[in-house]
Amino acid sequence: MLEQIQDFARALQASRYAVALTGAGASTESGLPDFRSNTGLWKDVDPVSLISMTALRRRPVDFYRFYRMRFSHLWGAQPNPVHKVLAALQREGLLKRLITQNVDGLHQAAGSPDVIELHGSLRECQCLRCGRRFPSRLIDVEVETEADIPRCPECGGVLKPGVVLFEEALPADAIEAAIEAAMKADLFLVVGSSLEVGPANQLPVLAVQHGGRLAIFNLTPTFLDPRATWIFREKAGQALGALAAELGISL
Ligand SMILES: [Zn+2]
Repeated sequence: MLEQIQDFARALQASRYAVALTGAGASTESGLPDFRSNTGLWKDVDPVSLISMTALRRRPVDFYRFYRMRFSHLWGAQPNPVHKVLAALQREGLLKRLITQNVDGLHQAAGSPDVIELHGSLRECQCLRCGRRFPSRLIDVEVETEADIPRCPECGGVLKPGVVLFEEALPADAIEAAIEAAMKADLFLVVGSSLEVGPANQLPVLAVQHGGRLAIFNLTPTFLDPRATWIFREKAGQALGALAAELGISL
């Protein structure tokens, strides 16, 4: 791996506009489970069936309980080496743009500025009626009956988690910024993503189509491996830690 890391480190130093996209694998080392790709059951319910607008409307009690369980993981989670190295690369000016599919806010917790959050954020909630945003502690409440569903303090509308649910569009400003960054990238890093969720998985394709070179840091193969210049098939934290050491960057 070391030779590949050294080669990639030189490419990063020579790059003009390096962009990174992170996925669930970037946060598993912080102890956050990957619910989107998890086929395991939660209380006999497939979590994937719960993260939709339909579930919020038809099964609100299960819906808010599921998010409460996610918050219980979130509040104790700390940034891991993946978040720390990427934040350090931004500080050093080696990484120009950071795009994430994650909703946990751990990049910001590690000090990353201007993170493009394609799927929104669990740290916020939003009123379905007036659109105002609030800290997500307002929906981190016990919901036993529909009467307990958290409501907007301003207008009384239902509060939903600040994440993109199935059947919802991605935030237009985030997707626009991500596309612009991908097209501009001469070096594109995929970190902890198996590239199974669209449209995020089209961003590295865009980068390659516009002449960017691709580095993939992921434990499992992805559909873009054949087009990648570098593939680091190990824990992303390990490979990025080696990269930071090679660049002489302290975390
Ligand atoms: Zn409201």
